[in-house]
Amino acid sequence: MSDCFILLSAGKSKRFKSKLNKQFIKYKNMPLFEHSLKTAIDSNLFREILIVSNKKIKTIFSKKIRVIKGGKERYNSTWNALNYLKNKKIKNVFIHDAARPNLSINLLEKLKKELKKSNAVVPYLKSENSVKYKIINKIYNLNRDKILMTQTPQCFNYKELFNLYKTNKEKINDEASLYIRNNRKIKFILGDKKNFKITTIDDLNYLKSDVYYGIGFDIHRLTKNKKLFLGGVKIPFHLGLKGHSDGDVVLHSIIDGLLGAMRKSDIGTLFPSNSNRFKNIRSKNMLIPVLNFLNQNNFIINNIDINLICENPKVSKIRNKIIKSLSNLLSINRDLINLKGKTVEKLGIIGKEKAIACEVICSISK
Ligand code: ZN
Repeated sequence: MSDCFILLSAGKSKRFKSKLNKQFIKYKNMPLFEHSLKTAIDSNLFREILIVSNKKIKTIFSKKIRVIKGGKERYNSTWNALNYLKNKKIKNVFIHDAARPNLSINLLEKLKKELKKSNAVVPYLKSENSVKYKIINKIYNLNRDKILMTQTPQCFNYKELFNLYKTNKEKINDEASLYIRNNRKIKFILGDKKNFKITTIDDLNYLKSDVYYGIGFDIHRLTKNKKLFLGGVKIPFHLGLKGHSDGDVVLHSIIDGLLGAMRKSDIGTLFPSNSNRFKNIRSKNMLIPVLNFLNQNNFIINNIDINLICENPKVSKIRNKIIKSLSNLLSINRDLINLKGKTVEKLGIIGKEKAIACEVICSISK
């Protein structure tokens, strides 16, 4: 293990219109640059880990890394790092952009494996778009099958890269261009789509997808001469739930949970119980406007966790039936719904089998 991971974090983020440099912007509760840093540490593939930065770096991983000063351009920063490593007996360097937070250990291992056979290994993606090339005012078609979109980490034998840099006088965009300019061979391996670069605020917003949570609770009295509905499905039982509607505590809790997550008030506002319009309504119909609102606002349901609180009927016997019904009504996969049965040690109105209660937590994302 004599390899070094170099994280380039000195860029000025010209295309990223924010006061904060993009590498310090929070993404999934961590500054952008820390994501690939953590992957490099967790991979156990590196003896040295360097961050090249022009700003003071504060990170929870301080003990495992070294921060060195960046240069004006990317190639100046890389050169600083290569110089720093001069007497450290490094075999290979992996040079990575801090703006690619979704680096995987799997990709690092693939690159490492290829480095046993090649002095330069670079991950790439095939182009999914057709590509044109403009020279002055004329546009040319390029064959997209021959386009390689390079990613990072770009990996090199340290000595060879150092020597190429030493004699290089020109500005280069990345290390691969330096190799190509000097007619050196690069082994290109298929990269990882998720390992894309965040260039603009839009890229980050696209990645971020905020998560919201909503909580729901409901309780209805049990009564004779009513059918029992739970989760939109009829349950064979000698009592039913009293209410303006069919009294389906599971659906009412879910509706409140979803409305809560969307920050849209509650079920009572949507279906006032003093309005005859909604008398004896089946609760599954009450779900429709809520789901419409969810769709119109591009929300998706991440998961729903339900506690159904009653002595009888036994939840274990009706669990699958309810989950299947909810999965149909909500158009989500069954494994996103969890239903737990809870008894109350015969205590209170629920313990005496006079009522059924339900509580729910829903998670949604944009
Ligand atoms: Zn209710």
